[in-house]
Amino acid sequence: MTDGGLARYRIATIPGDGVGPEVVAAARRVVDAAGRQFGFTVEWTEIVAGGAAIDRYGVAIRPEDVQLCRASDAVLLGAVGGPKWSDPSASVRPEQALFALRGGLGLFANLRPVKVHPALVASSPLRPELLDGVDLLIVRELTGGIYFGERQEAADAPGDRRAVDTMPYGEEEIRRVVSLAIGLALKRRQRLVSVDKANVLATSRLWRKIVEELRWRAPDLEITHQLVDSCAMLLIKRPADFDVIVTENLFGDILSDEAAILAGSLGMLPSASLGERQTEHGRFGLYEPIHGSAPDIAGQDRANPIGTILSAAMMMFSSFRRTDVSGAIDAAVSRVLDDGWRTADIAEPRDHDGGLVVGTTAMATAVIEALETSDTRAGATP
Ligand code: NAD
Repeated sequence: MTDGGLARYRIATIPGDGVGPEVVAAARRVVDAAGRQFGFTVEWTEIVAGGAAIDRYGVAIRPEDVQLCRASDAVLLGAVGGPKWSDPSASVRPEQALFALRGGLGLFANLRPVKVHPALVASSPLRPELLDGVDLLIVRELTGGIYFGERQEAADAPGDRRAVDTMPYGEEEIRRVVSLAIGLALKRRQRLVSVDKANVLATSRLWRKIVEELRWRAPDLEITHQLVDSCAMLLIKRPADFDVIVTENLFGDILSDEAAILAGSLGMLPSASLGERQTEHGRFGLYEPIHGSAPDIAGQDRANPIGTILSAAMMMFSSFRRTDVSGAIDAAVSRVLDDGWRTADIAEPRDHDGGLVVGTTAMATAVIEALETSDTRAGATP
């Protein structure tokens, strides 16, 4: 769609709960600023989901709102949940919105890039020399496996309680996510590690077979298999060795949180969930920071908006094929960090003396200023 000759993108936003509205508002300002600079306009639609939707409608997300997301070119989400809605036995819970969106929008792959900005090495619990050159991408299967298999809850009577979870995978579910990961690895440093537990699990042995069957598609790509336990260890011991990791749902959930620790703060990291559907602009996807709703700092202008801003950059890259815009946003964030701007979560004591520790809104303003004064028009997001 165009608007007086300008490209026009339809983006649904789901601010959600806690700091979600603050970080989404910050990323929206950055995208609008990029639109002015790069000549595109955005038609924003705002959708209520999570705890906010439970309060308003009695459900975590209404089917018509999932449909509104489906009718958009991409979705930008903040976070859902918080103490008010945290009873795990409640029949309506905020995270049901995430499952409804993933399932309803066919989002089968979750991408989490982890880069450690040199200026933030001190915020990471790892030794600086281990972090040199860390630039990895975890591709997690999102709609299959143990989270969706049949389960049997334990009976109430103590003594002989037993519960069952099952982990089903069909070959097409594996093939589509591994194919996506192969495509991504080909655009990066040509190394793909497929993670499984093939010494124990039947689904992992099928996973391995499918990876082998797909090897011919990318003869120059280095594809290796790694057991999940040793991968968990190597992510901490030699994180810079990894390029792209592809794995099933449960392993990906755990490994991607482990890898997030490398970057120092949850507030820094973006993610994308992609489906198969192509729009007129690119691949449909849902983009969100990896952190939750951070209720402890909600409403205080203290949340780091960079994870959401970088999620918007991923959206420009995958859903709008705007490598110029995604590269410029990435570069603007790097410059702001190089210049010393920090939110409280990534500040060291000495940063407070220099006066560059700022809130959510001022951090977004700093990124916009860096964007507007930058001549960077090329670059790449994963
Ligand atoms: P969390 O990520 O919200 O917070 C963990 C810690 O990190 C907190 O101290 C928080 O202040 C800090 N933090 C998180 N994001 C930050 C940011 N942008 N800037 C600065 N500091 C930040 O995780 P939690 O406390 O375990 O969960 C809180 C709520 O969020 C729960 O209800 C949980 O279910 C929900 N949650 C939602 C999502 C999602 O919507 N995708 C993901 C994870 C957790």
